[in-house]
Amino acid sequence: MSTWRNRAECAIAHGALTNSKRPSAFVDGVYPTHISRGHGAHVWDGDGKKYLDFCCANGTNLVGYGHVTLAEAAFHAYREGSLFTLGSTLEVLAAEKAKELWPCIDKLRFLKTGTEGCSAAIKIARAATGRQEILSEGYHGWADGFVSMTPPAHGCASGGEVWKLCSLEEITKKTAAVIVEPINLDSSLDRKKYLYQLKARCTDVGALLIFDEVITGFRVPKLSVSRLWGVTPDLIVLGKAIGGGLPLAIVGGKREIMECSDEYFVSSTFAGDRTALATFLALSDLLHSSSYQVPELWDTGLYFLDRFNGISELVQIEGYPTRGAFRGHPEILGKFWQECCKAGIIFGASWFWCFPHRDVQNVIEVCEEAIWKVKRGVRLEGHLPQSPFASKVRSPSG
Ligand code: PMP
Repeated sequence: MSTWRNRAECAIAHGALTNSKRPSAFVDGVYPTHISRGHGAHVWDGDGKKYLDFCCANGTNLVGYGHVTLAEAAFHAYREGSLFTLGSTLEVLAAEKAKELWPCIDKLRFLKTGTEGCSAAIKIARAATGRQEILSEGYHGWADGFVSMTPPAHGCASGGEVWKLCSLEEITKKTAAVIVEPINLDSSLDRKKYLYQLKARCTDVGALLIFDEVITGFRVPKLSVSRLWGVTPDLIVLGKAIGGGLPLAIVGGKREIMECSDEYFVSSTFAGDRTALATFLALSDLLHSSSYQVPELWDTGLYFLDRFNGISELVQIEGYPTRGAFRGHPEILGKFWQECCKAGIIFGASWFWCFPHRDVQNVIEVCEEAIWKVKRGVRLEGHLPQSPFASKVRSPSG
């Protein structure tokens, strides 16, 4: 057991800050447990061993760890004061930029995390509609209402829950809002059609449509699914990659919804932190430069996925070109990840593609070799990865 792991287990509850970073989420015993630094798409563990990282810090790393332009923007903002007693001129500039990037936003609030953004979105939706019921598809953070969908939800207040969306007919005049990730893994035409139907159903019954674009924001061409597919939600939530590695989230949408009342309470001391707003602005500029074109990232990611999924039926990545999830028998996946990790590649349940991931050929060769070893019956040297999520999800009907 590594020293860092021992020390973490003594000082940090359950040894990790998020479930997805627990040693048990990887091949425990083979994977490193702590990272000391990163550069581009690479990270170094506590012992100085270098790995190519395909988890991208839960999808936050888009242009590379320690990117100089973003680091300078953050440094400059901090040197001039990271947070003020009054609003900052930078937050106004950043809000204007966000409106430009995501035209479904008339008005917004900055927050720090995806959980804050999604919690604010459903609160605003309830305030705007005067209705209570929220229907949801997928994960939207760890707030009580959301997490209470995944029993056992020890410690959650009861009431005010969010129910799982099972069919369009469940959306009624009682529904305040439906919150979905517009693309979770499925970016097919069918999904696009479904989103149009979802939007129409919500409009018919007066329910609001919330797009949780915490992951898709900045990761798809046109920088959001709503823009890419021309489906306009009433509210949008963004997070993860938009801060360029610093914590930043946005909840925004139609003016009459965002300003439905002075009485809803969304308030966060660090929301206006200028370091993250500065990296957001610097990253937005980068994404408009010729070196960081998301459509090109999409193309290289697609090329990687095609090559990867062509290696073996045994291990597949399901998803879209910048984000996916591994599919395969748990034991085979565990052994495959183990061999990749030993060869210097970190894979996890979620797969992310970022700009510095350029060397497709080398990665494919490592993956081919790992599959070959799995087929030859390599021994599992650690424990099989455990899902960070509970598996059951409640629905209004039971
Ligand atoms: N929404 C989605 C779609 C997410 O994937 C996540 C985090 N994985 C969240 C919301 C919550 O974001 P955070 O962890 O920043 O609170």
